Amino acid sequence: MAVDATLPYDDQNIFARILRGEIPARKVFEDDWALAFHDINPQSPTHILVIPKGAYVSWDDFSARASEPEISGFVRAVGHVAREAGLVAPGYRLLANTGLDSHQEVPHLHVHVFAGRPLGPLLAR
Ligand code: AMP
Repeated sequence: MAVDATLPYDDQNIFARILRGEIPARKVFEDDWALAFHDINPQSPTHILVIPKGAYVSWDDFSARASEPEISGFVRAVGHVAREAGLVAPGYRLLANTGLDSHQEVPHLHVHVFAGRPLGPLLAR
């Protein structure tokens, strides 16, 4: 189910529940600002999701409302995860779906980190 990013934040979404420890996740990194965990349905050999700890629906929501420490913490976490997973040399792709046309399924901002094989063209045609 895709979401409308203009909707208010739903604190029952699956990533909010992971952040609260209500459901498990295979965590790869956590600090005060971000949590990273393996995607449950990986689309590449490495497929990690990085999420901010705050309640933000999307990149535009986050960039409009988050504090400077939240923004820098989250951006640094994405880079940290890529470095620690050994993805810099082979290369990796970041992707953040937002709203209906992108088919965002979970209404909590998340950056996909894809790697581990040649990833092909940017978008399906
Ligand atoms: P998006 O379509 O960008 O909203 O991506 C949502 C992603 O969340 C998909 O790649 C799902 O496989 C992933 N996902 C959904 N539920 C879970 C979960 N419980 N643990 C880890 N990843 C999940």
